[in-house]
Amino acid sequence: MITVLKSSATAEQRDQLIRWLEGQNVQVHISEGSEYTVLGLVGDTAHIDMELLESLDIVDSVKRVSEPFKKVNRKFHPDDSVIDAGGVLIGGGHFAVIAGPCSVETREQIIGVAHAVKASGAALLRGGAFKPRTSPYDFQGLHGEGLTLLLEAKKATGLPIVTELMDMQDFDLFEDVDVIQVGARNMQNFGMLKKLGRTDKTILLKRGLANSIKELLMSAEYIMAGGNENVILCERGIRTFETYTRNTLDISAVPVLHELTHLPVIIDPSHATGHASLVPSMALAAAACGADGLMIEVHNDPIHALCDGAQSLTPAQFDELMGQVRRILEVVRS
Ligand code: PEP
Ligand code: MN
Repeated sequence: MITVLKSSATAEQRDQLIRWLEGQNVQVHISEGSEYTVLGLVGDTAHIDMELLESLDIVDSVKRVSEPFKKVNRKFHPDDSVIDAGGVLIGGGHFAVIAGPCSVETREQIIGVAHAVKASGAALLRGGAFKPRTSPYDFQGLHGEGLTLLLEAKKATGLPIVTELMDMQDFDLFEDVDVIQVGARNMQNFGMLKKLGRTDKTILLKRGLANSIKELLMSAEYIMAGGNENVILCERGIRTFETYTRNTLDISAVPVLHELTHLPVIIDPSHATGHASLVPSMALAAAACGADGLMIEVHNDPIHALCDGAQSLTPAQFDELMGQVRRILEVVRS
């Protein structure tokens, strides 16, 4: 249920109303919007007398929210959320590009790529240390050593880092990681989502290979329900009957998610297409349709990459793409 307050409501009146609502066993989520203050009520709201609430002097309107997602719902928070990702803002007009290799391989590789993507305008560095691979015989990542190298690259360049956590048992190693990625395969690992919801880490939540937009939102709700509101959503392609591309990029997920939620939405054109040649056009499409950012795989030597070389851009290709992205953003914003 949401309660929209009149702009004439004083802070004291608002707090009094919140105490009254909390006394009826519901959680109250306050969103101070540019035009209105919205109180989002979560929990068992069936016993709340809507007519009584609506009749109060300071209340403008009361509505039931029929969707099962509440805290992520734009009705609860009409303005875009701006998320802090290690000091870089994403959402609400702040566009950020995350770039780096699929996996951290060597010191030279990650530090070299970090300097290159920074020079081209990337705001965050990515690199997997724990890799979810289809085959147990493939390179699984450098684990703790990979995180150490990523932190060295962060120190060398000042770029905040994004890296995937696959198992909560490794959480303590992620203390200095700026953004924890929950990968597509863990999107519905509800135990993990609940635990991350009790932390204050910024979470990049990727859409599952075969998950609907509503399921993605429910997973984000798990994190927010625990109190962690620092969530960024990522569309990375879904499974369809098409096999030419690695996945099928659901570009319409961007405007659909922007309608349904206040959380920022970024696009990963690398995992969506699986081919470096297709990454630039999809990245530009994402910027054109209002995405809040991009996550792009960049490798200094894609042919010899230990993971996802075929979809990785070289630093030179990434540099060219960043120039084009900036031009698209200028058009979109003008
Ligand atoms: C990744 O970003 O490295 C990755 C494994 O992505 P996804 O979970 O989207 O497959
Ligand atoms: Mn990858």
